[in-house]
Amino acid sequence: MSIKENLHHIKSSLPPGVTLIAVTKTHPPEKLMEVYNAGHRIFGENKVQEMCDKYEVLPKDIQWHLIGHLQSNKVKYIAPFVSLIHSADSLKLLQEIDKQALKNSRVIDCLLQIYIADEETKFGLSFEEAEELLSSEAFQQLRNIRITGLMGMATNTDDQEKIRSEFRSLRSFFDRLKPSHPSLRHISMGMSSDYLLAIEEGSTMVRVGSSIFGNRNYSAGAPKA
Ligand SMILES: *Cc1c(COP(=O)(O)O)cnc(C)c1O
Repeated sequence: MSIKENLHHIKSSLPPGVTLIAVTKTHPPEKLMEVYNAGHRIFGENKVQEMCDKYEVLPKDIQWHLIGHLQSNKVKYIAPFVSLIHSADSLKLLQEIDKQALKNSRVIDCLLQIYIADEETKFGLSFEEAEELLSSEAFQQLRNIRITGLMGMATNTDDQEKIRSEFRSLRSFFDRLKPSHPSLRHISMGMSSDYLLAIEEGSTMVRVGSSIFGNRNYSAGAPKA
């Protein structure tokens, strides 16, 4: 199927209230334009440099979501235009986002990335760390960020029940936090291999790349950044 058909196929499988982030990392601007021309406007990148390069050359009504790990010293490059940062995982990073947002006279929406997988390699806060962060005085002083939800990545496994229980744990944490944190609206969970499962477990934002664009090629001339 073409990129456009893949996009329509996935969109038609999403219930109302679930937002699709088209994950465009490693793909060139021409491919992004196929999705853009099909009417899609929400794109996710996981590297700052690559997102900035694409922002420069693509239409300005695209909403750019940063979904990959973010280093504090790179926040300044995306602060003028980023629409949502999915990967906020420390107070220090949030303080820097707040500072750069203020410089740009904006409020930047962020999700707290929560560690739900059973793997060493995934970034994120534990439930306890997230609660501590949200209740800390230092966090409450930040005026130019808004925490609008949580993000999580399941373990990379074929075990569907394991993935389901990790998603479920994020959902119940969200439900527990929500009464005291009314700004929480989104749960970003689910990728190509597990987005339908994530939706069953309460996801409101799915981040889908390869099911739209095909497999990524990291070696042959793809932008690395
Ligand atoms: C690459 C990536 C995705 C999309 O992965 P696919 O399997 O291609 O759908 C989702 N979330 C994050 C954080 C990613 O880095």
